[in-house]
Amino acid sequence: MNLINDDKQICDYCKESDFVWLYEVKEYIFGVDYFNICKCAKCGLYQTYPRPSIDKLANYYPDVYSPYNLNTYISLFSPGKSMVAEVKNRIKRIYIKSYFNYYAETTQNKFARSALKILTWPVKIRTEWIFPEYKERGRVLDIGCSTGFYLSRLKELGWDTYGVETSKYAFNIASKHFNGNVRYGNLESAEFNADYFDAVTMWQVLEHVESPLSTLLEVKRILKKGGVLIIGVPNVSTCEVSIFGKWWWAWEVPRHLNHFTPEVIRNCLEKTGLKLLKVEFSSNPNNIIMSVQRVLIDCFPKYQDGIKRFIDPDKNKYLWYLVFPMSFLLLVLGKSGRMIVYAKK
Ligand SMILES: [Zn+2]
Repeated sequence: MNLINDDKQICDYCKESDFVWLYEVKEYIFGVDYFNICKCAKCGLYQTYPRPSIDKLANYYPDVYSPYNLNTYISLFSPGKSMVAEVKNRIKRIYIKSYFNYYAETTQNKFARSALKILTWPVKIRTEWIFPEYKERGRVLDIGCSTGFYLSRLKELGWDTYGVETSKYAFNIASKHFNGNVRYGNLESAEFNADYFDAVTMWQVLEHVESPLSTLLEVKRILKKGGVLIIGVPNVSTCEVSIFGKWWWAWEVPRHLNHFTPEVIRNCLEKTGLKLLKVEFSSNPNNIIMSVQRVLIDCFPKYQDGIKRFIDPDKNKYLWYLVFPMSFLLLVLGKSGRMIVYAKK
């Protein structure tokens, strides 16, 4: 066991400074720097080591960073008038209604709702649409809202939407669409009122923040009593890590500073006084496709431009279907590389 002992880097959860060294991982946007993945010897929280200072870290978020590219706001429903479009829209609407209780004008009894949930489950798998349960005139905050893509969907579903974003580039795009309701900076600097939100969402954000515990404490402060928190975050306790090791896509160093297992995130929520409701796993073929891309880039650096063009789920949609059976199996086993955590104040 290779133990790192560094008083400068302490574990956010238990404040210890003993870490077990696991992998040396490459930074892949610029392709120059390497960072270590370490695990706290006491509590099991994985961290990136060493951590760049806040100023240096900003340099690792160029404007081309992929989450900032979602700047066209596509409606949940197709505007097409064809029969196929109408059937698809109807199925999506049933999915949103039966899973998240929207569209109160139509009613479902308990049995029908359960049956419709099963029938529309493929919509959940394919779209990965997760929304807070419907709340009339509800107020929602998306932390790390980027360009506001998800916020636009919540707005379409009737929410009073707020966002906070640390990238000036993404903030500028989002603020044009959401006026004063998107604030620039981190959650703490946004200084929202206490007991203000009915729901808070964090999609692929908690792994980026300097102190997950401080962020969760602030979330607890601004949530109303009974308000819900939904966190989407990579799951380190996945077979993908066993297979790909240092090439696992979701290490994403040094942008990802913290790496969670279901157990660690449960402990973090408990420590901040938020109540864990459930942990779901999501099928995420992109994790596997992009991990394969990284293996190939490192093995055949001369051909990396072609590899990046070919092994990319956005450019070659069929890859998603090719890898789906494997990622679906991991989902069923509770070992997929992404989890969705639901908590309540
Ligand atoms: Zn620890």
